[in-house]
Amino acid sequence: MEERKGRRLLLFPLPLQGHINPMLELANILHLKGFSITIIHTHFNSLNPSTYPHFTFHSIPDGLSESEAATKDLVLLLSLLNAKCIEPFRECLVRLLSDASEEPVACLISDVIHFFTESVADSLKIPRIVLRTGGASSFAVFAAFSLLREKGYLPLQESRLEEPVIEFPPIKVKDLPLINRCITEEYSKLVSGLSNGAKASCGVIFNTFEDLEEHALARINQELPNIPVFPIGPFHKFYPTSSSSDLFSIDHSCISWLDTQAPKSVVYVSFGSIAAMKEAEFSEIAWGLANSNQPFLWVVRPGLVQASEPFPSGFLETLNGRGHIVKWAPQKEVLAHPAIGAFWTHNGWNSTLESVCEGVPMICMPCFTDQMVNARFASDGWKVGLQLENGMERGEIERTIRKLVVEKEGEEIRERALKLKEKANLCFKQGGSSYQSLDGLVKHILSLESVVFQSQSH
Ligand code: UDP
Repeated sequence: MEERKGRRLLLFPLPLQGHINPMLELANILHLKGFSITIIHTHFNSLNPSTYPHFTFHSIPDGLSESEAATKDLVLLLSLLNAKCIEPFRECLVRLLSDASEEPVACLISDVIHFFTESVADSLKIPRIVLRTGGASSFAVFAAFSLLREKGYLPLQESRLEEPVIEFPPIKVKDLPLINRCITEEYSKLVSGLSNGAKASCGVIFNTFEDLEEHALARINQELPNIPVFPIGPFHKFYPTSSSSDLFSIDHSCISWLDTQAPKSVVYVSFGSIAAMKEAEFSEIAWGLANSNQPFLWVVRPGLVQASEPFPSGFLETLNGRGHIVKWAPQKEVLAHPAIGAFWTHNGWNSTLESVCEGVPMICMPCFTDQMVNARFASDGWKVGLQLENGMERGEIERTIRKLVVEKEGEEIRERALKLKEKANLCFKQGGSSYQSLDGLVKHILSLESVVFQSQSH
């Protein structure tokens, strides 16, 4: 723990699992660097302060009705949060900034998707840094949506899906970060909010590292010439912690089950906290796993599939202990376990990065938005995975698993994954790119404070 800086940071995560985890990891890193931490969070998916006794928590009403909070429409949910949180957030900031009993506030660090925070922070003259919890490559693509429109890639045309997007190798047209390949007005608004919000910020933090996303980071630096960019990932490696910010309760039984399995044999299957699928797709996954003859650990989260009895009849009986199924796993611990041989993932950014950090090759099955970009980089950019290009079909699933985990054909992929792991594990050590970038971030935050002090003392 470094000397206390006598400054407080206000952190405001987006209330979704894949955004909460990195924001709290960032909070731990900055706390270690000597800052005091205040977390502002919504009632929706609210956090449990008792798991982080070293932080202060403030909960704000988000104004979501019961049905709005239960929506499966992600774009609607994000738009509602951006519209309804403005006033409660402003009131909370005013209270926090005027509290003389606390250390002075150096800046706000907001999830970049909470773009409404820009005008609130501006009106209160508090500097605002944004955290992009997704990758830099997908961010660069989002930031170029108008260029992609000009060049005719967007809106997407079915006849061009397999064409490369030459401005963004190795992305293909079908990988452009959309939902169901459509681009609605609401979605466009979110994308421009995200990109403009970053452009208007005092700095952008990425949970990535130079060696992984060098080209995208260079491009972002060009696009945002006056905004400092801090790639300081992988966050969870800086500060391994047992504190949990999980919205689901973790089933640790899988670790003792993994202890009984052969090294590098198990396929870990998880599609994150949001993705959902049809019963028929789920059934293909189940039979693909069963027929592969490899042991597997499968996270079947409530809501992953809409069916009263999700497993196809006869499936569970065929397993004979070869499969272990849980509702939510301690994923980072799982991926670091020596029994894991592959990760079948939806390529949410956190899952992708966590897999890279442990040298686990991936079976890529993206569902929507940035996941398609992440998956293409994993399979065709870093070449540490295989993508299920033709949807979910049990024969292809079985062949892909065997190729990646046991067959000679997958050997180069497995080796590349281990090499990438080495790079991931160097960047946050002394002298590494993320280590240096973090030092830069701390200095930058301390240089911002004079602006706030002026405004607070008036
Ligand atoms: N996760 C977990 N246990 C699980 C499944 C996921 O702890 O059983 C964590 C995972 O480690 C990651 C986050 O949930 O940090 C999911 O984030 P990601 O960006 O991969 O996907 P999202 O949920 O946002 O689609």
